[in-house]
Amino acid sequence: MPLPDAEITCVDCGGACYPLGWHPEDGELEAGTVLPYRCRDCMDRWDIVIGEEADEGW
Ligand SMILES: [Zn+2]
Repeated sequence: MPLPDAEITCVDCGGACYPLGWHPEDGELEAGTVLPYRCRDCMDRWDIVIGEEADEGW
């Protein structure tokens, strides 16, 4: 099973987003699980589907 990113980059502001309700010590999640992330800078919410390619670097 894939391991979610503990931190992703906010597409809007470039800040760090952290998962809601998941911590690295919780381990892997089932593929297809939707994990919400919250940006600490602009407070935007991003729903990330676990097991899909992350859209980073654009
Ligand atoms: Zn942001």
